[in-house]
Amino acid sequence: ISQKSVYNFNAGPSALPREVLEKAQKELVDFKNSGMSIMEMSHRSAAYEEVHNQAIQRLRSLFAIPENYEVLLLQGGASLQFAMIPMNFLTSGKKAGYIMSGAWSDKALKEGKTIGDVFEAASTKETNYNRVPSLADIQFDDKDAYVHITSNNTIFGTQFQEFPDTGDVPLIADMSSDILSRPIDVSKFGMIYAGAQKNLGPSGVTVAIIRKDLLENANVEIPAILKYSTHSTNNSLYNTPPSFGIYMLGEVLGWMEQQGGLEQIAKNNEAKATLIYDVIDESNGFYTGHAEKDSRSLMNITFRLADEQLEKQFLQEAKEAGFVGLNGHRSVGGCRASAYNAVPFAACQALQQFMLNFQAKNQ
Ligand code: PLP
Repeated sequence: ISQKSVYNFNAGPSALPREVLEKAQKELVDFKNSGMSIMEMSHRSAAYEEVHNQAIQRLRSLFAIPENYEVLLLQGGASLQFAMIPMNFLTSGKKAGYIMSGAWSDKALKEGKTIGDVFEAASTKETNYNRVPSLADIQFDDKDAYVHITSNNTIFGTQFQEFPDTGDVPLIADMSSDILSRPIDVSKFGMIYAGAQKNLGPSGVTVAIIRKDLLENANVEIPAILKYSTHSTNNSLYNTPPSFGIYMLGEVLGWMEQQGGLEQIAKNNEAKATLIYDVIDESNGFYTGHAEKDSRSLMNITFRLADEQLEKQFLQEAKEAGFVGLNGHRSVGGCRASAYNAVPFAACQALQQFMLNFQAKNQ
């Protein structure tokens, strides 16, 4: 591992805990005295199966996942879930509602449209997604197949603090950019899914947590590889899994346990984001946040400076000072600091200081 140290605020793939990377480096060529890398082992071997099952067990215990949910480790990213969800659960004659809170909900809806009857259950597009829809504005029918929600909007920097009560209609959440950043009552959801590459590990693994009764009633007229039930009946070993990614997932989850679990991680995340939001709020308009205060994300902090010239200068000087990934997404512009679980408090302190100094020199 090189000694060059940077402050990694990438939106995804993003920072991983340093301790996990160092442990993986040590084990890379000789996993537990086997003379082989975990990458070189059969996915049917006892050694790999232990790694696989430990990752699933750690997910279950950290997230307090009830017994009546399956935990699946899939591939294809969250984007494949945009297609698999309607394929499995949008049975003919039913509709599915999508809560539109950003670019990723939009992609999920568009993919749903290719499969069946989908509609917008609420939207804040009119205000360029600077807040999440109010729960009271969410429209759906109690006969709908499901309601889809994006818990954290990576690009716009907004996050749901509360979730709608959809009664008997399953609530399906894309938690790609805030899974395991705070405790959540899993039993309120029919399904939760997330690509791993922000809070969970390297890209290539997708976690899906699905209530068992939904699996039992899912569509059967689709290819085996796209059926959730295929993966659940095979303990996510139907075909060759992304074994190295799953090993890393298990290690990241072990690190989260050592941090004190989700209560503690949530406190850390709140403290980290507050450092940056305080600078924005106390800057007398030098920095302006994109998100309305009560919709702000603790994971992705989006902000602008007075004009594009000043933003360019800010990003250039930040880069020279060792800050990585502060450019806003191309569809929003401006700046974005992504402070996922593995971003250290000290990195946020350094960014806070950098922002204060930059303001003092340039206002
Ligand atoms: N959903 C959200 C909220 C995301 O942030 C992303 C990726 O950034 C995706 C979905 C797409 O994930 P993937 O690239 O794993 O398909």
